[in-house]
Formats: sequence, C-alpha cells, structure tokens
Amino acid sequence: MITTTIGYPYIGENREWKRLVEKFWKQAISEDTLQAEWKKLRITHLKKQQKLGLTQVTSGDFTMYDRMLDLAFLFNLIPSRYRSLEDVPSLTTYYAMARGTTDTVACEMTKWFNTNYHYIVPEYEGAKLKLNHNHYVDWFLEAKEAVDIDVKPTLIGPMTFSQLTKGYRDKELAHYLLELLPLYAQVLQQLVDVGAEWIQLEEPILTTALSEEDCRLAEVIYTQLVEAVPQAKVMLTTYFEALTDFERITNLPVAGIGLDLIHGKKENLAALRQHGFPPQKTLALGVVNGRDIWASNLQEVAQDVQAVQTLVSPQAIWLQPSCSLQHCPVTVANETTLFDTLKDALAFSDEKLGELVEVSGYIESGEWPTPTAVSASMKRIEALKNHASRQNESVSTALAKLEEKDFKRTVPFTERLALQQQALHLPLFPTTTIGSFPQSKEVRSWRAAWRRGDLDDSAYEAKLDAETLRWIALQEEIDLDVLVHGEFERTDMVEYFGEKLAGFAFTKFAWVVSYGSRCVKPPIIYGDVDWLAPMTVKETVFAQQHTDKWMKGMLTGPVTILNWSFVRNDLPRDVVAAQIALALRKEIHALEEAGIRIIQVDEPALREGLPLRQDNWQAYLNWAIDAFKLATSSVDTTTQIHTHMCYCEFNDFIDPITALDADVISLETSRSHGELIHSLKENPYPYGIGLGVYDIHSPRVPSADEMTTILEESLAVIPANHFWVNPDCGLKTRQEPETVASLKHMVEAAKALRKKT
Ligand code: GLN
Ligand code: ZN
Repeated sequence: MITTTIGYPYIGENREWKRLVEKFWKQAISEDTLQAEWKKLRITHLKKQQKLGLTQVTSGDFTMYDRMLDLAFLFNLIPSRYRSLEDVPSLTTYYAMARGTTDTVACEMTKWFNTNYHYIVPEYEGAKLKLNHNHYVDWFLEAKEAVDIDVKPTLIGPMTFSQLTKGYRDKELAHYLLELLPLYAQVLQQLVDVGAEWIQLEEPILTTALSEEDCRLAEVIYTQLVEAVPQAKVMLTTYFEALTDFERITNLPVAGIGLDLIHGKKENLAALRQHGFPPQKTLALGVVNGRDIWASNLQEVAQDVQAVQTLVSPQAIWLQPSCSLQHCPVTVANETTLFDTLKDALAFSDEKLGELVEVSGYIESGEWPTPTAVSASMKRIEALKNHASRQNESVSTALAKLEEKDFKRTVPFTERLALQQQALHLPLFPTTTIGSFPQSKEVRSWRAAWRRGDLDDSAYEAKLDAETLRWIALQEEIDLDVLVHGEFERTDMVEYFGEKLAGFAFTKFAWVVSYGSRCVKPPIIYGDVDWLAPMTVKETVFAQQHTDKWMKGMLTGPVTILNWSFVRNDLPRDVVAAQIALALRKEIHALEEAGIRIIQVDEPALREGLPLRQDNWQAYLNWAIDAFKLATSSVDTTTQIHTHMCYCEFNDFIDPITALDADVISLETSRSHGELIHSLKENPYPYGIGLGVYDIHSPRVPSADEMTTILEESLAVIPANHFWVNPDCGLKTRQEPETVASLKHMVEAAKALRKKT
C-alpha cells in the first residue's frame, strides 16, 4: 500500500519560503540565491517526508508564488500589459503578474474553492500559447535525486485550470482548450521522458456542481490527454468534496482516481457502494484531514479504509491526506507554549503523515506498527474531549435555554429607524469610518516594546489612549458624524477577541498561506467559548468620554471569528458559532450598559464560509445568520447595530444580508459601484446602507466631486433616510496624510449632497 501526499506545505517550519521571496523582492538576495535556497528547502521537505515513512513523495507541490500562476506562466498566458516588460519572460514578469508594478495592475486574485487560500486568476487573451521553461521537470529530477522512494509530479489539472481561467467567452472555450491540451500533453510527455511514471493531476473542480456539458468536457479532455501521452499513468485526484458525477468521472480513461474521504466521506462511500470502482484502476483515498489540525482517530481511519476494501477491489489503494497539506501548518513539534492536553491532541502536516504510515501498516499486517503510539494517541484525543475546557456548564445551559425570541429584536426595522433617528439626532447622510485608523510605525513600535516588556501595561495603554485622543480631535476637525476609537490596541480582528475569550489558544508557528507570501496564523478554538470580562468597553468608553459625538463600539462577528480560526472537531460548527455569539451578546450588553448606542459587528467572512455546493448554502446561512442575530438582537430598540462586510458580491447575497436584521450595513463597493447600484435597483435593500465611496486599498486621494458623483448615483436607488457615507474598509494599512485628506473630501461630498436635498 502506497502512502503519499497530494502536496506538502512549501512555506517551511519557520516560513523560510516566504522570507526568501520577500528578500528577493527587496533585492536583498539575487535570483540565483533565491533559487538555490528554495531548492535546499524543497530537498529538506522531501527528505523529511521520506523519513516520516511515506513510500511516495510529490514534486511540483512547490510554487514561486501561486500554483495557478506557475501554470499560466508555463503556458505563456501572460496578459499583454506585462509583455513589454521583457523579451523573454523571467521572474520579473512573473512577479509583475502576481503583484503588479507601479504602472501595471496585478492579475486578479480570488478564493481557492472553499478555502482561505487565494490564487491568481489566469487570463486568456486569445494570443497563441506556447511552453515556457518547464520547472516541473527540474523539480521532478531534483526530487528523484534527493530521495530513494517514488516521486510523483503533480500539476493542477486541465479541467480545473481552464474553468478557472477568465477572458474567454463560452464559445471560445473550445479554441482555448485546443491550444491548452497539447501543451499539457507536452508537459506530461517531458515528465515521462525524464522517468516519471505516475503523474498527478489535481481536479478539485470535479467536486463542484457539474453540468452535463462539464462532464462531457472532462471526458473529452482526459480521453485526448491520455491518448496523447499513453505512457503517463495519470492519477486524477479530487478534493474538498465528494465527486459530483461519480460514475462518469471514475470511468475516465486514467490510471487512478483520488477521492476525498473526509469532506466527501458519506457521499463518496455511498457512491462506491452503488457504482463500484473500475478494478484496473488505482484508488487514492484521502483519509486524514488535510485542512484541520487535529489528530485522527486512527481506529476510525483504519475502519474507513477497510470499509472501502469490502466494497471494491481496485488495482491498488493509496493512502493520502484529504487535500494538499498547504492548508495545514507544518509541525506540532515546535509549539512549546500550548498546554499539554491540547498539544497532544494536535496533528499538523508532519504528524498527519505519521498517521498515514501507521494506518497503512495496520491495513497491511493487521497490527499497528507502533501500538503504544496509537493507543496513546487515542487516549490523548479522549483526554481533550473530556477536558474541563469542554465541559463549561454555564455555556451549555445557556445554549439549551435559548428560545426563538433570543434571536429577534423586539421592534421591526421600520419602527426602529424612526426611534433611532430621534434618539441619535444624526444629520441626513451621516458620515463614519469602518473602525481602524492607521497603525503607524509608532503604534507598532509601542506594541513591540510592550511585548518585549520594555513598556509596562499602563505606559502602553497611556500611549494608545493618547493616539485615540489625537484621532478624536482629527475626526472632529474632519467633521465626521459617528466616530471610532481607532482600534490601535488590535493587531488582528480575530486574535484580539480570541485572546480575551475562554476556549481559544494561540500557536507560535502554525502558519498557513493566505495568498502569495502572505501567511496567517489562525487561533485554535479548542474549548467552550465563553465571555470572561469586557473586551472593548474600556477603550470605547474612554473615547466616548472625550467627544460629544457618538462613538461607535467595534466588534468582530461570530461567523468571522469562527471562519478565521481552526475549530474543534467534536462539536458541529453551528454550536461553536452559537457559543461565540453568546459571548459577543454579553459584550454588546456591557457596551450598552456603559452608554454606547451604536455598535458595529463586522462580518467580512460571512460569505467566505459558504459551502462549495450551492444546495448546501442555505443550511450554512441559517445557522450563520442565527449566530449574528443571537449576538446582536438583545439590544435596546434605540441602539443601532451596524455590520460591515468587505467584498460580498451583493447580487446573490442580498437575502442573507437582509436576514441579519442589522440597522446599517457598510460595504466595500468602490470598485464595483455600477454593479451594486444596478442590483440595488432590482432588489431594494430595506435597511440602512453605507456604500464605500472610496477605495482604501490605494493611497490615491479621491476628490470630493468624484465622491459626490458616486453618492448621487447611489441616492437614486437608496432612500435618503437609509443612506450612510463611509470609506469602503478599515484604514489600518493607510498613511495618515492621505487618510485625513480623503476623509475631508468624503465629508465635503456628504455636506454638498445635504445642501442639494
Ligand atoms: N473594523 C475593522 C477595521 O476597520 C474591519 C476590517 C475588515 O473589514 N476586514 O479594520
Ligand atoms: Zn472590510
């Protein structure tokens, strides 16, 4: 039985990959050094996997920035705006596509299926494709030399790659494929020529909703590819969900099929039972979770494999994680600050590979290779399960007692609006910001000094207070209507709350890539989430005491906290979301008690949590919306609840947003105003709404006139008494001068509009 991976994390135990590429961007190292150091890193990773006991490693799971971009570059899918940069495209062009230059915008980036990873969207402009330098061959040869086990090159497959490319219309797809497929075939042939036997093609798209036409397309693509390179043994691997059309996909003319037995377990098992599996094919089973951080129950994993063995008799069975381990941190070994019961129940990439090796040993011989390790692991999972942090009775009692009324505000919005307007006395078209002000060098240096112990708590807090006061004065000078304290005490909108709530833990090295070289270190929700003490009251009240204008309370919403964390796997996600919501409900109550009348609960990750298949959306939305409502609905009628989302593709999301019953929403829309206004015309939004009138992602200062135009257009589709004016996201990453200048123009535009109406 082969044990393998779909892919191993490329970033390194200490984010070496990221550090190297960032040094290269800063021109602190040469390209030769970059390539040489990267090669060392790849070889270290390969040797480590061999040592862990895998019988096959994967090459081509590495990237220079993003694996979709690697392929686009290989096929010379280089949009014309980058072509003038160089005659022979090199890393300069590659990184221009990834990150843009001063004169050319970067390629679009978007979410990789239902993960928090973002890939670069390939652009097809109709120009002739050709093959550039084939790194996959280099990576394969170097891996062959580094280890003495099988090496399987991997590439994102042609179906997924072509479907995620933009720039062609439906009828041009055939033309695009006609060019693309021979190049894929050529790459495969080059790999075969240097000795590759198995080649993995990753096709996650086959787990999304497929039309009849898509299935036919997959058949055409794979028939052609396999005919063109008959010596290649193609392992067509799928992940993130069960196969949508199991029978047709498993019967494609490839040598092996990979299935996700974690996220698509029930459906894939049912399909194996119903349709069987071609006996001449190899079946790769994703049996340990490639996207979480928890140790597997090895007995259960072994049972799953045995269950498959009783159903079908493929040529061979391989064991692998459910998806590429790039979504999982590298190793638990370096975590020194977690408490033992938690640490013992974790498994990151390296530990997960160890699990595969145990299970394969057991399946082959009927005995665990290291029985003591297996029973110890089972005990440790049990120990965390029974840990006091998971038995918080006050939380479970509070959840059990919830009634329908706890999710509902007592008065409907139409009546609330009038009462709030009476209580708050805001002008027409009130102006506000999304929460954070620039986290300047000084702010960051204070935090660093405080973390080092060079500043004590009170000295640190005094500096933050002074910064808040400075920004209150600035906001008053700008003449904003609803002020914020600036969030100077927060580095991250989830971490800040996680550190103050029960049930969260923080690792030192559990980084995963979010996009390019940007990594995130999600907190771990391991226990029952509980509110311990006020988290934001001190800062908000301090700020409110220093202004006569309204100070907005700022919280991160329950769904965003959940979606940006690694979540315990012994409870359904909806229950964890409800626990977080209950904790936030207490915080909101505390803010209200302290006199805060406007409270914003940010949910930028609400949309991100949508399941891969649209038929599962509603189930998710039901509990996600409930969590938001549970957190926010206990407030007084005159307390105004705001929410904020970044890109949410309003068009097909208006119903869920409406269901939140938030008094005001602010949206990040400055880049897609036309679309939004159009969709508001078709589906009027019944609550208060602030359309981001300027793009905070750019240092450009828009003029007041420019913003007035946007405001006037928006006013045509939004009732005047629902209308708010704000930038389109938090201002944390901006510089002070451009922030102040832009906000002044924004307020000027709002005032001009008031005069006209
Ligand atoms: N309140 C947060 C801020 O202003 C919101 C950030 C976000 O939407 N991602 O920074
Ligand atoms: Zn935002």
